[in-house]
Amino acid sequence: MFIQVKGLYDEKLIRPVQLISNLFFEETVLTDEEKEMVMTFSINESKAAVSLAADGNRFESSRNIEELPEEEKERRKVLKNAVSHVVLDVLTQFTGIKQNWGVLTGIRPTKLMHKHHQENTDKIKTRDYLKETYMISDEKITLMERIVERQLAMVPDLYNLRREVSIYIGIPFCPTKCAYCTFPAFAIQGKQGRVSSFLSGLHYEMEKIGDWLKHNDMKITTVYYGGGTPTSITAQEMDDLYEHMYNVFPDVKNIREITVEAGRPDTITPDKLDVLNKWKIDRISINPQSYTQETLHAIGRHHTVEETIDKFHLARSMGMNNINMDLIIGLPGEGTDEFQHTLDETEKLMPESLTVHTLSFKRASEMTQNRDKYKVADRNEAEKMMEMAENWTGKHGYVPYYLYRQKNIVGNLENVGYAIPGQESIYNIMIMEEMQTIIGIGCGAASKFIDPETGKIEQFANPKDPKSYNERFVEYTDKKIEKLNKLFSIEYTTR
Ligand code: SF4
Repeated sequence: MFIQVKGLYDEKLIRPVQLISNLFFEETVLTDEEKEMVMTFSINESKAAVSLAADGNRFESSRNIEELPEEEKERRKVLKNAVSHVVLDVLTQFTGIKQNWGVLTGIRPTKLMHKHHQENTDKIKTRDYLKETYMISDEKITLMERIVERQLAMVPDLYNLRREVSIYIGIPFCPTKCAYCTFPAFAIQGKQGRVSSFLSGLHYEMEKIGDWLKHNDMKITTVYYGGGTPTSITAQEMDDLYEHMYNVFPDVKNIREITVEAGRPDTITPDKLDVLNKWKIDRISINPQSYTQETLHAIGRHHTVEETIDKFHLARSMGMNNINMDLIIGLPGEGTDEFQHTLDETEKLMPESLTVHTLSFKRASEMTQNRDKYKVADRNEAEKMMEMAENWTGKHGYVPYYLYRQKNIVGNLENVGYAIPGQESIYNIMIMEEMQTIIGIGCGAASKFIDPETGKIEQFANPKDPKSYNERFVEYTDKKIEKLNKLFSIEYTTR
């Protein structure tokens, strides 16, 4: 969609117009060249107004600016918000599409709710603020409230964990690469040499970070093994890895939760489950994504639906009592019928938690590069499926406990984690709400350093591919320790 923009002389105000337009149209190009669709702005100290000419019709919107702050950053924030409002308004009038998240384009809406909670703002005032400032719908505000409530029930000291850390460990191997994937996931077949050197690097990083934590009397709240698929490596390699974790990390027995993603059912074997049990892994993920065989084939997951079901039963029979399953709304060729089938199959298994993702077109994925090959549900159908997930989980005793949004997500929806109350993943809460530092170890692992005083966030990512990781893990470990020292005002060196 091409939109001609007139009267917007501040370059920085183009961005909110782009972001809001992207919510309505798949690809929006803003230009000053003559086009059939024209947005004409008029902005001054007290008002932002826009007139949209499209399809022979005209749509108007304006928003008063009560007070423009003196400070430049704040001033721009107010102007951007006003521009976002009027653009959202005219595009809603033109398309008839209601944006439930209003002008909010950020990834973690519940952070806003926590901010108000920490400031003890009255619930009604918070609701009014979210509606007035961001135009978020009542349903989504209620969803945010429910999530924040569950998170605080699960982690009552959520706001006081800034002097503990969580650890993310990235294992970058998978049996094959899924078409929508942009995670560091390298097909493991025939790469044994690379896997061994990767694991040596990983052991090194764990040891150094563990030393730092012990030396500084720092507790670990949660550990999460992700990737990739951490169960792609052999049972022996897993055994060595978890033994090493117990040896080098402080007080592993008191870590609140250790999760290992076993996402691909084709990697799960009885001997690996024995290892997970031996080292008291609390929670695993077995991810069906869909229960329709053709879909699995189309997205490049080379396992069968039966295998997902069998491996789930195997894990259960071997004592795994906290299993998460990921589902994706909007996979190619799937509509409400296929999604209903997925929910029916889920009902037979009843995992402790269920993460409902909406397909997102990430730039680097195979699916996005060959978008024409993949036919996906439209906005209305995606919304219906999300509603089905909400109703189904509610009916079966699950509650929503985290949510995040992504760019280019089908229907501008969200990803929601549901769980049977008491079985929510603490790590997921920590990563979503950014309440403490997460140290990323391993390939592609992103660290998030949260200043314990100010809450300021700094990100730092390890190399994404095993080759670069294997060459540079020492350097990356040193850098992280340097950042940790600075963050917690500590003097400590690795050598
Ligand atoms: S199993 Fe997960 S990490 Fe591996 S390729 Fe598929 S989506 Fe990516």
